[in-house]
Amino acid sequence: MMIVVMKVGSTTKEISAVIARVKKLGYEAHLSDGEERTIIGIVGDGNIREYAEQFQMMDGVERTMPVSHPYKLASRDFHAANTLVPLNGSKVGDRKIIVMAGPCSVESREQILETAHAVKEAGATALRGGAFKPRTSPYVFQGLGEEGLKYLAEAREQTGLPVVTEVMDSSMVPLVCDYADVLQIGARNMQNYALLHAVGKAQHTVLLKRGMSSTIEELLMAAEYILSHGNTRVMLCERGIRTFERYTRNTFDINAIPVLKERTHLPVIADPSHATGYWQYVEPAAKAAIAAGADGLIVEVHPKPEEAVSDGMQSLTPKRFADMMRAIRRVAEAVDRTA
Ligand code: PEP
Ligand code: MN
Repeated sequence: MMIVVMKVGSTTKEISAVIARVKKLGYEAHLSDGEERTIIGIVGDGNIREYAEQFQMMDGVERTMPVSHPYKLASRDFHAANTLVPLNGSKVGDRKIIVMAGPCSVESREQILETAHAVKEAGATALRGGAFKPRTSPYVFQGLGEEGLKYLAEAREQTGLPVVTEVMDSSMVPLVCDYADVLQIGARNMQNYALLHAVGKAQHTVLLKRGMSSTIEELLMAAEYILSHGNTRVMLCERGIRTFERYTRNTFDINAIPVLKERTHLPVIADPSHATGYWQYVEPAAKAAIAAGADGLIVEVHPKPEEAVSDGMQSLTPKRFADMMRAIRRVAEAVDRTA
């Protein structure tokens, strides 16, 4: 549905031309002739938005106002109840807050196994760890690749924790699916449409991270690509956006959490590690995220953050992670959830 607002003083000829165009496109036009101006409501099945700019350019048209959201499958209008994404016997989007934890990068077999046992002990639901890393510089550690995926799979065998790991390219989707329980789409790839199509087709659970300069609507439109393949196992992740502020790595857009929860049925995960960039801010941001309605967290944990090859500054030690878990449980209870 869309409304075309005609300019004050638009002519009968201009109005008729708009109506003719509406009919030609197979839609119905409803005319509302006011004293000053005329508005035309366009209704019918299909994506009339696609033609908004064309109508906008017609003589006598002041503006066009799409009534429905540009995203459809992701919208609460389409699916009112929360979508519950199964993860390790839990359902993400349900009452229990789920926590995915682990290092930024898988660095060695020992490192990932040690971290997996520690986060499991502290109550994590899933293990995170990057084997393919989207690094800003091509001259730094790029991840262990398939070797890293194998270590993650071994950690899952030992702990029972499902594995969340990033896939950076559509050609790599089959390989990463062989090892991962959840495919992470990183912030830098949120609008890699070939990749979004590929993970949609794969029918694998996806954690879709918000691009660092993407709007909430762009995040929902990216989710729409995955959903368009009938894959509804999609979790959205707020991981901070780029602003002028330099005392934190990114600016945690806490607003995005209630906004997303209102607009979409998909679960919302917060990443307080990338959102802040410093371990000492991770727990406060995690608590805020839960208070704001997040369904889960993804948190970086490293046995020796000072030796981490990536994101050490924002990584919690296992002890600090266990402390954070205790702290968030109290916030979860305060908002009628569990963790
Ligand atoms: C990560 O999770 O380690 C990562 C690279 O995150 P992002 O894509 O949000 O920067
Ligand atoms: Mn990281």
